Amino acid sequence: MPFESDIERELLALRSSGLDRRPRVLGSSQLPEVLVEGRKVIGLCSNNYLGLADHPDLVTAASHALRGFGVGAAASRQVSGTMDIHLQAEQRLTRFVGLEACVLFSSGYAANTGALQALAGRSDVLFSDSLNHASIIDGCRLSRARVQVYRHRDPEHLQALLSQHRSGSSRALVISESVFSMDGDTAPLSELRDLCDRFDAALYVDEAHALGVLGPRGQGLCALLQVRPDVLVGTLGKAFGSAGGFVAASANTVEIIRNKARSYFFSTAPPPLQAALALAAADLVESSDDRRARVLGHAARMRSALGEMGYETPAGSTPIIPVLVRERDAVMRLSSSLLEKRVFVQGIRPPSVPIGTSRLRLTPIASHEDIHITRAIDAFRSALPDYLSLRKRQRNRL
Ligand SMILES: *Cc1c(COP(=O)(O)O)cnc(C)c1O
Repeated sequence: MPFESDIERELLALRSSGLDRRPRVLGSSQLPEVLVEGRKVIGLCSNNYLGLADHPDLVTAASHALRGFGVGAAASRQVSGTMDIHLQAEQRLTRFVGLEACVLFSSGYAANTGALQALAGRSDVLFSDSLNHASIIDGCRLSRARVQVYRHRDPEHLQALLSQHRSGSSRALVISESVFSMDGDTAPLSELRDLCDRFDAALYVDEAHALGVLGPRGQGLCALLQVRPDVLVGTLGKAFGSAGGFVAASANTVEIIRNKARSYFFSTAPPPLQAALALAAADLVESSDDRRARVLGHAARMRSALGEMGYETPAGSTPIIPVLVRERDAVMRLSSSLLEKRVFVQGIRPPSVPIGTSRLRLTPIASHEDIHITRAIDAFRSALPDYLSLRKRQRNRL
């Protein structure tokens, strides 16, 4: 079949399965209320947890950097793309997370794929939580190491797999998100650390959704639980408000990553303004206890209000609130009906989450006012009859 016809056949199949994706287009910056298709609606689906994505300090830092350094780094870091501001940003982020060294990437996705590919190879074994992010899964694949997937947040299963598969490999890494991106639950990091110590494995923690939000000065879940990770991955695209990723670890580990990670080595360095934004955001994030209290307060209020109404919202202590709908078409219908009521929440379907667990994923941000949360809760109240009748149909089918 000719290429274009074959592509068309695939696209039609995708559309008829109801899993094709077309994003809603925003006509505004990531404010508490965003313009969606020309209407002002409450935005409840960004990862802009602290509300920094349009913060004036960051806008100023970026415009200074533009004037001082231009728009492009013009080469990969190893060739001629390393500017002093990249190094300053790395030192600042190192201090932020409290480890020995750190290396910037263009994104958190590039950080995970690069670091895992650099740190593990054919003779190594990786133990990965079953709900880890796609960038971790892809990094595991790129490494060509053996991969053992343990049940979500299950140290006993991890222990069984370590007993069975640790020996016979040179390196072992246990890989987990600290706050899981689609469920908002947290990893049992102390138990993972103990198992790593017992089985001579390194602990690799992706703090994408915890940095800035949890822990003293927003240092993340490792800092909150006082667990030392061997490798810590962060993104600058969520609470930090802009874009970019980084990996922090010992100085030696970071040097290996700089020498081997292909997404670092063979890719143009992040633009200097990205480094300037990392520097400025680190200061803002550290001094944002008030913002952390606000976003966590909003989340607690929404979670309990929705739970009391009858929505299935698993317990949690992070700003990520899943509302389980289970069926992928129903979740998109609920999302559209909430948008009609001026609340923008995205439906999350496979392959982002396992089949049968489609959900709305709500994330308030620190810059929401209490009235925004009240209006969002009201919208959910008026969407409740549809949700409850759907759940009844689901129960009757069982
Ligand atoms: C978002 C995310 C990433 C990717 O970070 P980007 O900077 O958006 O590329 C990595 N890991 C987890 C757990 C994430 O949620």
